[in-house]
Amino acid sequence: MTDCIFCNIAGNTTPADIVYSDTEVVAFTDINPQAPTHVVIIPRKHIASLSQAAPDDATLLGKLLTTVQMLAGALGIDESGYRLVVNNGDDGGQTVPHIHVHLLGGRPMAWPPG
Ligand code: AMP
Ligand code: ZN
Repeated sequence: MTDCIFCNIAGNTTPADIVYSDTEVVAFTDINPQAPTHVVIIPRKHIASLSQAAPDDATLLGKLLTTVQMLAGALGIDESGYRLVVNNGDDGGQTVPHIHVHLLGGRPMAWPPG
């Protein structure tokens, strides 16, 4: 989708600090980081939100999590811990309608979230 900022990052038409990419997923540094480590992981496939994912997307959704696991190790936060966030829809605080996982680490996280 040409009007989707995350599709454009995946397609290299919008610049980003890409920390990992393969044929299925792309990971890049969040432009407005909320922690010392804040990476956004997306599928190349445009899925607007978790609510819009189909049963056939299950393997791809799992790939997002295994990518997070790999990146947490590569970024050195797997031992200290980290948080994943998937905002969904308006009440979830989703601002970019392309499904993504936030990987946050490098500081202790509070609970409950705001
Ligand atoms: P969400 O609010 O869950 O939809 O998260 C969207 C995230 O994308 C926010 O944390 C933004 O800071 C981040 N973001 C938006 N545009 C860009 C961009 N061009 N490059 C990197 N991160 C972005
Ligand atoms: Zn998109």
